[in-house]
Amino acid sequence: MTAFSLEPERLAWCAELRALATDRLRPLAEKGEPGRVNRALLAELGRLGLLERLFTSGALDLCLMRESLAQACTEAETALAVQGLGAHPVHAHGTPAQRERWLPAVTDGTAVAAFALSEPGAGSDAAALELAARPDGPSRWRLTGEKCWISNAPEADLHTVFARTTPGAGSRGVTAFLVPADRPGLTGSPLEMLSPHPIGTLVFDDVPVTADDVLGEVDRGFRVAMGTLNLFRPSVGAFAVGMAQAALEATLAHTARRDAFGGKLSDLQTVAHQVAEMALRTEAARLMVYAAATAYDCGAPDVPRRAAMAKLLATETAQYVVDTAVQLHGARALRRGHLLEHLYREVRAPRIYEGASEVQRGIIAKELYARQPAGQAE
Ligand SMILES: Cc1cc2nc3c(=O)[nH]c(=O)nc-3n(C[C@H](O)[C@H](O)[C@H](O)COP(=O)(O)OP(=O)(O)OC[C@H]3O[C@@H](n4cnc5c(N)ncnc54)[C@H](O)[C@@H]3O)c2cc1C
Repeated sequence: MTAFSLEPERLAWCAELRALATDRLRPLAEKGEPGRVNRALLAELGRLGLLERLFTSGALDLCLMRESLAQACTEAETALAVQGLGAHPVHAHGTPAQRERWLPAVTDGTAVAAFALSEPGAGSDAAALELAARPDGPSRWRLTGEKCWISNAPEADLHTVFARTTPGAGSRGVTAFLVPADRPGLTGSPLEMLSPHPIGTLVFDDVPVTADDVLGEVDRGFRVAMGTLNLFRPSVGAFAVGMAQAALEATLAHTARRDAFGGKLSDLQTVAHQVAEMALRTEAARLMVYAAATAYDCGAPDVPRRAAMAKLLATETAQYVVDTAVQLHGARALRRGHLLEHLYREVRAPRIYEGASEVQRGIIAKELYARQPAGQAE
């Protein structure tokens, strides 16, 4: 691959994914209930081999899957991404028994996964999490507390849950547990969001876990969380790029055909220049996402800065592009069921989750200043 374009095989794969999203996934997404897990859609993602690719692909291919699916079916994109987020810790840190028990069902789409880090009192500051893992005999704990804004909750079959094993130790006292949905004391309820995203709360009332449920090492769970988020962060940008591309294409088609003032909307230079700006910013975001993902795949040292830049630029760009697309479509874009009405609701959340835009700026600044030698100003 050169630095600036994908190889023909990858471009062909993206075209194939877009066609599958339109022909096979979109019809299933339309039959789903907004805000609820769509098991038929997940099973189809499994049949198409895409869930398996979550664990065999590098970061760039993960981005290409997310971007391509998002262009034609955001629900399929999100189902794929959340399955990856929830099960990646099992793939990367699970014991042979945990992997054997769960990964085949995760990859064929029969088991639904969730990644449970956020709490009502710990969002951006995830290291402040308080869900308590209290010792209950040797290598046994009881989980008590609440998780909030958890995608796929409360319907998921397995949860990667981050709990506090050492009080007061911040990020160094957190352990990741694999908690199946049928554990006694685990309940939850769905939350209705602006987008059709399946999401909810989880309540832990003395839920028993043992050493067999630990993912990675005791008190080292924050590393499991951050490792997973480092892989997925550029791909949130890819999701955003896919939505921006869909909005751009809809706008090109609309403005080229819409009669206005004796010509077409695209004849108005202010309109054509806005479309050019949408295309320019989408392409810039796409290149930054590909560069960050490629850096991850190469094991480059500057992944945190690149991933933060890519996620920040792409999600903010997609918001701008979708909003401009709505403006250039006029009233029809706001009608319930219109592609842009759907994208307008979908595009907002990625600027908040997996590190809000302000948090990404903090990461970028920290990385930049870390390379400055200490000393006095001139
Ligand atoms: C659709 C959706 C799906 C989600 N899915 C999951 C999931 O599957 N699993 C999971 O664990 N969580 C999930 N979340 C939760 C998500 O990770 C949190 O919403 C996110 O971490 C922000 O936390 P918060 O909402 O509590 O906002 P807060 O942390 O309260 O932050 C609010 C705002 O304060 C500002 N801010 C915060 N920190 C800083 C800072 N350091 N510098 C400058 N400004 C700052 C930002 O503007 C930020 O948006 C999801 C959220 C959404 C919306």
